[in-house]
Amino acid sequence: MQVLCLGVGEACDSRHGNTSALITTKNSTILLDCGFSVPHRFFGYCDEPDCLDFVWVSHFHGDHFFGLPLLLLRFWEMGRHKPLQLIGQQELEEKSITALELAYPGFAEKLSFPLQFHTITPGSPLLIEGLQLQAEQSAHSQRNYGLLIDDGIHRLYYSGDGRPTAKSRRLIHGCDLALHEAFTLHNSVPGHGSINGCLQLMEDENIKQLALLHIERTTRQVQKTAIEELLKQHPGLLLPKDGELIILN
Ligand SMILES: [Zn+2]
Ligand SMILES: [Zn+2]
Repeated sequence: MQVLCLGVGEACDSRHGNTSALITTKNSTILLDCGFSVPHRFFGYCDEPDCLDFVWVSHFHGDHFFGLPLLLLRFWEMGRHKPLQLIGQQELEEKSITALELAYPGFAEKLSFPLQFHTITPGSPLLIEGLQLQAEQSAHSQRNYGLLIDDGIHRLYYSGDGRPTAKSRRLIHGCDLALHEAFTLHNSVPGHGSINGCLQLMEDENIKQLALLHIERTTRQVQKTAIEELLKQHPGLLLPKDGELIILN
């Protein structure tokens, strides 16, 4: 499994793209979240129309979801015909069509490829094209699902936004890599995770590697030295850059 970190920033970070990753497994490619800035970054790596199989939407905040109309527009422009599968919580279909209609009125009817929507329910794994997907709700201001992807070889967890909950910890436990939001250094913003919270999570849940994403932009600068020190002390803790590739062997 390969993880291309398309963006590592939070909603308002002008130096880093919105948090998103492109996952490549043996048989599929999955885009994790599609915020405002994601399509431009994604198409920097993808130049053929059928390059993507799935889009996962953790929740409907703009930095995770509002890039979807542009993603679809560009695939249409490239002449895509292969179905695109969108996976997320209830109302994903209605909200996606609404976002598309607001961005480009009448465009949904012109799409040259089918959109296939899959609703995931906590506690019910979704088996799709050789992948097992499981979701649980995190503690965030809007319902957000953390996602566990198991391709039979590796287990990858992607938090979207929010702190871990007792239920999401069960998915996170023992995973090979967690991509986790860490908004601040300590747990100082309700509904968001933190770097220290992630460190504790790594230890409690026996996570092999954890990549810190979605760091609040001022924290990233002001706490640079403290963060670098933590990275030195904890070899499994990662601070990926935009465009960084993480390979799970
Ligand atoms: Zn959010
Ligand atoms: Zn966010």
